[in-house]
Amino acid sequence: NLAKQRLPSYEGLERYKLLDKLGDGAFSNVYKALDLETQEKVAIKAVRKFELKPQQRASVLKEVQIMRTLKHPSIVQLKGFIETKGYYFIILELCQGGELFHQIVRFTYFSEDLARHCVRQVAEAIQYLHEEKGVVHRDIKPENLLFDPIPIAPRTSAPPPTQPGDDDKEDEGEFIEGVGGGGIGRVKIADFGLSKVVWDQNTQTPCGTVGYTAPEIVKDERYSKSVDMWALGCVLYTLLCGFPPFYDESIQVLTEKVAKGQYTFLSPWWDPISAEAKDLIEHLLCIDSEERYTIKQFMNHPWMRTSSTLLSTNN
Ligand code: ADP
Ligand code: MG
Repeated sequence: NLAKQRLPSYEGLERYKLLDKLGDGAFSNVYKALDLETQEKVAIKAVRKFELKPQQRASVLKEVQIMRTLKHPSIVQLKGFIETKGYYFIILELCQGGELFHQIVRFTYFSEDLARHCVRQVAEAIQYLHEEKGVVHRDIKPENLLFDPIPIAPRTSAPPPTQPGDDDKEDEGEFIEGVGGGGIGRVKIADFGLSKVVWDQNTQTPCGTVGYTAPEIVKDERYSKSVDMWALGCVLYTLLCGFPPFYDESIQVLTEKVAKGQYTFLSPWWDPISAEAKDLIEHLLCIDSEERYTIKQFMNHPWMRTSSTLLSTNN
């Protein structure tokens, strides 16, 4: 395979064998790796320390600290953390299916049932974050929603048909199906780089304060959860039609559109989509954050309560 690039070898990371590159961030590279102690495959986010300002270093540590407290089937699990002179290595549960974004591209758009299935899993994670952990993610978008497909065992009678250029899909003979194929996987929230603890679940107060907090701060922190709900609305919109609610080539125009909440259910793409789905999106993409649906209201909306015909074997 010509495309296979050389993988670096990092000092201090001897426990893992890098297998593949999964993605790049501004200050990081993400690899697929084998944990030589457990023989388990993991994802490793290698963050280059020397490019970071002290404040950015602190935020990587905060990302890890927040992830440490989280355990949910729809949240990428933190498995370890290694700091060396030059790097932070964040060891994560591997999501073999890659970004949800790529699944959208693959299918153009999702059926309402499939969109509901995906968005419900994201919403369950948000509910856990908001209601149990007092955490706001603040960077929910298709690139940070990863997809963990259910591996389908290779057929014993005949091998799965191979297509040209398909030979690299899986390295150990597992037959991985996409979200719309024979198996339906799990969607997981990743990238807690911008996340923040806003609300202490035990004391029901904003974090780190004991009663001198001004009302606008208390209010602000409460409503900051609504940024995740706006983003969830954008994700749902995108899943249903294949393009985002707000887009413009010019950043200025785009910013203006978002600020005014200027989006439409563009014909003909939105014509076949149910009124309930549109109603739910309208309650998420509303400019007034006090009026915007909370996660609880989202879960109770008729569109979410519609039972789908999809079989979910992974719940
Ligand atoms: P950044 O903060 O730089 O955006 P992310 O944590 O979002 O870093 O990771 C960058 C990309 O790496 C993701 O968009 C995804 O493609 C890939 N990635 C990250 N974590 C995993 C994982 N656990 N499994 C599979 N791919 C991952
Ligand atoms: Mg990211």
